[in-house]
Amino acid sequence: MEMWIKEMQIEGAAMTYKVNETLLRKKTEFQDLAIVDTPSFGRMLVLDGIVQTTIKDEFIYHEMITHIPLFTHPNPKKVLVVGGGDGGAIREILKHPSVEKAVLCEIDGDVIEACKKYLPEISCALDDKRCEVFVGDGIKYVKDHKNEFDVIIVDSTDPFNMAEGLFGGNFYRDIFDALTEEGIFIAQTETPYFLPDTVNKVFNDAKKIFPVTKMFMAGIPTYPGGYWSFTVGSKKHDPSKVDTSKIKIQDMKYYTPELHNACFVLPQYVKDVIGEK
Ligand code: SAM
Repeated sequence: MEMWIKEMQIEGAAMTYKVNETLLRKKTEFQDLAIVDTPSFGRMLVLDGIVQTTIKDEFIYHEMITHIPLFTHPNPKKVLVVGGGDGGAIREILKHPSVEKAVLCEIDGDVIEACKKYLPEISCALDDKRCEVFVGDGIKYVKDHKNEFDVIIVDSTDPFNMAEGLFGGNFYRDIFDALTEEGIFIAQTETPYFLPDTVNKVFNDAKKIFPVTKMFMAGIPTYPGGYWSFTVGSKKHDPSKVDTSKIKIQDMKYYTPELHNACFVLPQYVKDVIGEK
């Protein structure tokens, strides 16, 4: 009998994927965790029924959430990832030779272990000596660190349960304080098509705190609506006006220097969602 998984995207709409094999299914302390193998996207990490990352399309999300802030900062040495237990952002961060330390703060240690075992293509850099893995709540971790990180990447699940506090003004204020003088923060900020109110709120909460706040979009086939927003908050450098002439890329499949500034050009409906001209 064929097996399919169904991800509810909004009320009345779902995405379905045929499953070859379920490799792991576990109730962790925080969520329902599954790793499945699919014919369309290869292996997938699924948390509470929501596809988080897949072997086939992960490069788009992980390259864009990492290289946009790291190529905007003039000399990123210390980087924090909140969430991101699959390790994809860490893999991309460690392609930057200036980085001396990349800290991963993931609340659910079972996600890290599952990804190390079943998604080695994504998690392969978690054992690098420049990477430090901390299992705990990112909200507390950020509050407890001041003036320490050059870049903070919020690679979280959707704004529910333990991830709810990762979207909004109080957390962004703590992120601002945890960043160094030229610090830059980036977060995945959901779909403007299906969740306009959420996208408007998180962008404008960040804008109240960071002198420079910009949104860019990337097309990610397995995320609801396929077209995903990222919000960048920066203390000094404008991520949409980077001199890209000296950027040297390594093994990248989506990010290019030409795309760096261009990805900040938004369609009118997205500008309307966030209230930008
Ligand atoms: N790329 C994915 C996406 O947007 O669908 C997200 C990656 S997924 C691995 C995000 C991770 O954030 C999950 O493993 C989850 O356990 C973690 N997470 C959620 N809330 C957190 C919190 N408060 N502190 C740290 N990690 C958290």
